[in-house]
Amino acid sequence: MATQKKDIRALTKEQLRDFFEKQGDKAFRGNQVYEWLWQKSAYSFEDMTNLSKETRQMLEDNFVINNIEVSNMQRSSDGTVKNAVKLHDGLIVESVLIPTATRTTACVSSQVGCSLDCKFCATARLKRMRNLNPDEIYDQVVAIDKESKLYFNRPLSNIVFMGMGEPLMNYNNVMKAIDKITSPEGLGMSPKRITVSTSGVPKMIKKMADDDVKFNLAVSLHSAIDSVRTSIMPFNETFPLEDLKEALQYWYAKTNQRISYEYVVWNGINDSKKDIDAFVKFCKYVPCKVNLIEYNPIDDGEFQQASSEAIQQYIRHLEQNRIVVNVRRSRGKDIDAACGQLANKS
Ligand code: SAH
Repeated sequence: MATQKKDIRALTKEQLRDFFEKQGDKAFRGNQVYEWLWQKSAYSFEDMTNLSKETRQMLEDNFVINNIEVSNMQRSSDGTVKNAVKLHDGLIVESVLIPTATRTTACVSSQVGCSLDCKFCATARLKRMRNLNPDEIYDQVVAIDKESKLYFNRPLSNIVFMGMGEPLMNYNNVMKAIDKITSPEGLGMSPKRITVSTSGVPKMIKKMADDDVKFNLAVSLHSAIDSVRTSIMPFNETFPLEDLKEALQYWYAKTNQRISYEYVVWNGINDSKKDIDAFVKFCKYVPCKVNLIEYNPIDDGEFQQASSEAIQQYIRHLEQNRIVVNVRRSRGKDIDAACGQLANKS
């Protein structure tokens, strides 16, 4: 039986250099291979044309490149593109390209399924199957960058970790992927153009602050009242709002970066004056801005988008308190690519 070959992209540059030295070759070959793997996104060892045939064969004998494959691509009437991404073990995640007049944003997944159990989100129904590896996250970005160049004649400009999964429950791999995305040895993108979105895992928000990260943080809040939040996001029982607040204050004290709150307003769930007051109060704990997201129905009607009057009430009270608020229209609904709709239907 063949021994299992190692995923070559699990190796650091140093480890690759060591590998070549142990083979009696030059350590410098490690740099060349590393560049092929990350900067040039080589699909196979065959592609590494500045290596000898023997070296390529030797790599082939020892390692695999666990490429992703875009197994299905759908285009929405509004220009949004959804990729169904097949992983080396056959599992599938989805990522989305969202074009606007001036930007192309990649919305990428961090887990197959999700660790959390938000009642309004289609991904939560898949349960978590596994974490994505750093290269699987990185490859989703590379695939969308290529599509952006192909369809819109410009490179990818922004990345949001708002696809499937809870990025802070796969912290190490997400950080490694972001390192590669921002490194000049990878895609060289500015961390200012990256947003990590979390349902709110206090301990990990603090860890991120300690790690001195430079990207943006978004928190999917949806309610600032514990009983309401727990009813729609049951993990709130374990990570209550008081802990979240404290973690966000810690984040701001360390990073000096304001937070974005993602918020959907639902009929009869969080559309009362009491809900608005609690949210406005929460928004004052730390400098922030608010994105009110349009609800994308995923089921038979337990959750329904609130009336436009209720949403206007939210906007009015937030603005009266000098809190910046944007209303986010959904994109890609016709292909199930909008927030909360990623569920591998295809
Ligand atoms: N787990 C992370 C990353 C997922 S981001 C997080 O929760 O932030 C996906 C965003 O879409 C979150 O803000 C989520 O609350 C929101 N969302 C989930 N289901 C939705 C739906 N059906 N309609 C609109 N937004 C939804």
